[in-house]
Amino acid sequence: MTLVEAFERFSLMPGRKILIVEDEPDIRKLVHYNLTQERFKVLEAEDGEKALKIVRQEKPDLVILDLMLPSLSGLEVCRILRERPETARLPVLMLTAKAGEADRVVGLEMGADDYLTKPFSPRELTARVKAILRRSELPSPTEGIELYEKGPLKINFSTYETFVSGKAVRLTLKEFELLRFLVQNPNRVLSRDQLLDRVWGSEVFVDPRTVDVHIRRLRKAIEKNDRKPEWVLTVRGVGYKFDDRALDK
Ligand code: CA
Repeated sequence: MTLVEAFERFSLMPGRKILIVEDEPDIRKLVHYNLTQERFKVLEAEDGEKALKIVRQEKPDLVILDLMLPSLSGLEVCRILRERPETARLPVLMLTAKAGEADRVVGLEMGADDYLTKPFSPRELTARVKAILRRSELPSPTEGIELYEKGPLKINFSTYETFVSGKAVRLTLKEFELLRFLVQNPNRVLSRDQLLDRVWGSEVFVDPRTVDVHIRRLRKAIEKNDRKPEWVLTVRGVGYKFDDRALDK
């Protein structure tokens, strides 16, 4: 991609469709107003079932999903989105009324890309939305590598597909980015901070434990036995290491 193309893609962002799923009309209105100011197209759903319907029909570029919804919870909606191949990588920003860590971790485990605790400032929300869209729309530089293939692991960086022994593996965008960074830095000990810095970048509110959650999910997706990982190794007290020699075993 040239710089001009990158700029064009970036400047197209304001036309992107954002779906806000929230049963409280005041919050829906607030989000709607603020994102419209930024020239986003905003769709609204007051419950999970309606949200799934709108996602199917309107194909939004990002979903802002409240955790506490009547009938189908935000977590359920997130899980369903992740299960369907056509929405497996649809960016999800989770809203949570509780600042409890358990909720955040559960949200991330379910495949949310980020979360925001209520009450939030509209400016913070807009910044998060833009950051998530930027990550999902601008492929980060892969140093020219399009395809990685070693042992049973095959990754296509341009189509965001991952295969283990020929079988397609479903990863969220974050898990994919994490795998990409690990693969590009084989056999090097990478600290949580390094991983946060390279994979999460300028998101200042990310807890280092987020890395552990994503590593766990990545292992579940690609390792033969995620309890005895052979590729993505823990380096006690420091961080993680991708052992690419184990791929040839
Ligand atoms: Ca709610």
